[in-house]
Amino acid sequence: MTMENGEDCCVKVAVHIRPLISDERLQGCKDCVTVVSGQPQVQIGIHSFTFDHVYGSNASPSSSMFEELVAPLVDGLFQGYNGTVLAYGQTGSGKTYTMGTGGKDGSQNGIIPLVMNALFKKVEKLRNQSELQLRVSFIEILKEEVRDLLDPVSPGKFESGNGHVAKLTIPGKPPVQIREGSNGVITLAGSTEVDVQTQKEMASYLEQGSFNRATGSTNMNNQSSRSHAIFTITLEQIRKPDAVFSIDGLPFEDMTEDCLCAKLHLVDLAGSERAKRTGSDGLRFKEGVHINRGLLALGNVISALGDEKKRKEGAHVPYRDSKLTRLLQDSLGGNSRTVMIACISPADINAEETLNTLKYANRAR
Ligand code: ADP
Ligand code: MG
Repeated sequence: MTMENGEDCCVKVAVHIRPLISDERLQGCKDCVTVVSGQPQVQIGIHSFTFDHVYGSNASPSSSMFEELVAPLVDGLFQGYNGTVLAYGQTGSGKTYTMGTGGKDGSQNGIIPLVMNALFKKVEKLRNQSELQLRVSFIEILKEEVRDLLDPVSPGKFESGNGHVAKLTIPGKPPVQIREGSNGVITLAGSTEVDVQTQKEMASYLEQGSFNRATGSTNMNNQSSRSHAIFTITLEQIRKPDAVFSIDGLPFEDMTEDCLCAKLHLVDLAGSERAKRTGSDGLRFKEGVHINRGLLALGNVISALGDEKKRKEGAHVPYRDSKLTRLLQDSLGGNSRTVMIACISPADINAEETLNTLKYANRAR
């Protein structure tokens, strides 16, 4: 989607089709998704959708996907622009693989590891022009509650009850609060935000948080992710002053130095499958309902942002409808850039959910 002046619009939508996995092959699944050659267009049955980019089943995130979609957001960080990358799709469609939030055995070519590479390359180049400080936080939203995945006192906080019930065991820490400052900046109160010096350090926080992420078993997939996981990188740049004056023998720094602060949210969203496809016990169903609230609100926010006519009329953007959209509020729309990657399975047994995903993503354009 492009704006009138030819500049890229704030929301880009791409589709990532993973290959058939061995489980699907064993079940005799057929590939039911076609990519129109040379076009960012996907066909399933009688339906056809066009996106900003389509990455076929042989594309790993390390290919052009990173360069085309995410690298501009990393550059934007250094210019003070917030950004958000969202992976959407049903459980098993490749969201975690695409983002690289799978922990130790997660993909080294996932988007987050590639962001780290690009980020630290740039940081090294700029070290002697600016004072740079990087910070990360890693939280998840489960059942409309925000939890800290880097909380050192509660590793492995989700205990599995009798086989299928995920029970929270958090020792005495209040839940994380989302706050909005008078300047519109969203902050998290009560979550760990760590200073990071090296790429290795940042990678270790990604790994630690991924490990701590809540998982519960469902009929779809026993590693099903019922939560939104949000890895946030904040960059603070203080331009080194050109001159250091001396007043009465004491160094005096030129106070005109400017500080630029921006953040990039990297989001592995909860599975988009409908609650009816998961187990019918009360807990799972409740989770399903809450998860839909975040995804529903996100769809409404992104669609409102993408609608140029509505935006010009100053239409209401429903950020307040969920914790997810509230948290991302200052990094969706405005000057910030948003990329949504809709992940899909090509297998015919998933055709119904794949169609739902494509419809959702299409609405975001
Ligand atoms: P989700 O996070 O959406 O539930 P996963 O990322 O866990 O899905 O992917 C489900 C399975 O498919 C995993 O076994 C993963 O390794 C595999 N997979 C996902 N995307 C790809 C891909 N592009 N290439 C190869 N395997 C993939
Ligand atoms: Mg996952």
